Amino acid sequence: MTDIITQMVADRRHLHQHPEEGWCEFQTTHFVVERLKALGFEVLLGTDVILPEAVMGRDPAKVEKAMEDARAAGVPESFLEATGGYTGALGVWKTGRPGPVTALRFDIDCLAIEETSDPAHIPNAEGFRSKVPGMSHACGHDGHTAVGLGAAAWVAAHAEELTGTVKLIFQPAEEGVRGAAAMAARGIVDDVDWFAGAHIGCSAKLHEVGVSHHGYLATTKFDLDITGVPCAAGSPENGKSALMCGAALCMSLGSLPGHSQGITRVQIGKFVSGTGRNIVAEHTSMLLEVRGESTEINDYMAAGVERTVAGLCAAYGCTYSLRRVGEAVTYKGDEEAVELVKDAARAVPTVTSVVDMNAKVGSEDCTMLIRRVQAHGGKAVFFYFGCEHHGHHKPDFDIQDTASLRDGWGVFTGFLARTNGRKA
Ligand SMILES: [Zn+2]
Repeated sequence: MTDIITQMVADRRHLHQHPEEGWCEFQTTHFVVERLKALGFEVLLGTDVILPEAVMGRDPAKVEKAMEDARAAGVPESFLEATGGYTGALGVWKTGRPGPVTALRFDIDCLAIEETSDPAHIPNAEGFRSKVPGMSHACGHDGHTAVGLGAAAWVAAHAEELTGTVKLIFQPAEEGVRGAAAMAARGIVDDVDWFAGAHIGCSAKLHEVGVSHHGYLATTKFDLDITGVPCAAGSPENGKSALMCGAALCMSLGSLPGHSQGITRVQIGKFVSGTGRNIVAEHTSMLLEVRGESTEINDYMAAGVERTVAGLCAAYGCTYSLRRVGEAVTYKGDEEAVELVKDAARAVPTVTSVVDMNAKVGSEDCTMLIRRVQAHGGKAVFFYFGCEHHGHHKPDFDIQDTASLRDGWGVFTGFLARTNGRKA
């Protein structure tokens, strides 16, 4: 067990130095796949785990560049071909004995955030800072991936004590809630009886485990491009301003009415338009999102966006392309699975407290996999294992890997022992 924990910390530090953004995780996927194979897992990847038609928010130019980087880093061409351009992997362990199918999910992507240069930041102090300028694991998904590999090592070591099938899901593109939907749509969890996912940190303190009964806002992410007609400012009747259309949209979308049945959010996070002072702007691009306390409320907000964009673009004589680039639903755990995780957490020697923890705000696309599991009759749960931090998605985010990872690993493997352990 000490070996597994030492390896998890080493894996996390390796992954931390090589962060990759959503849909670009070719080196990470290769690292994961090599390990899973070495441990004796059957491994599926590419379009065997991703349904291309359901992929959201994947930029082909970034993917191309990431594949080049992977090649340069020594990832074999045969592996890149096998991915078909889609990152993520599924490790399957069949014990050959009758028993349930249990899936654990780990997300693998990083964020476009430059890691702090503060010498006190542990990755700087201990020499495993991100080697990729402008990219870092500022949400802890490097820790998730390492825990997933630790769980894989545990399964291989305890195979004789297990029944049924274990599936370890290494999911791409959680940031922007883009990756889970395509894995769910591919059907990889349709046979799953038990499912657990987790996040490090959030509201959980170091050595605390928070188990969720419900929570998360449903969300839809949109990319919007508006096209007008450019002309000289002196004769505006010849043009259609994509900038004015975008500005009107900002005001209208920002004041979309809320919903009496629960929380709503609308956010326009980016607005780019115009080429010069005396030119009627031809293009506007916007990145926006809505959220809702229930999937129905989120759908109501998303419909409001679609209606408003259509109406105002028509009013300003502009054309547009509005694309859904990310989606997550709300979470409702199954009490039986929640209890198993609580029981597992209480048995982890380093865990000092086990509490109920329901995320009121924020979104997480693990919910797409959970919803799919539940739709097919399986039971699912989401939990948090703690670390000390000043906020996720910040340059100084750190997870104290030597202390925190074993807690998460202990809960995941304890869950597996409870769902798939040989009772005899
Ligand atoms: Zn995260």
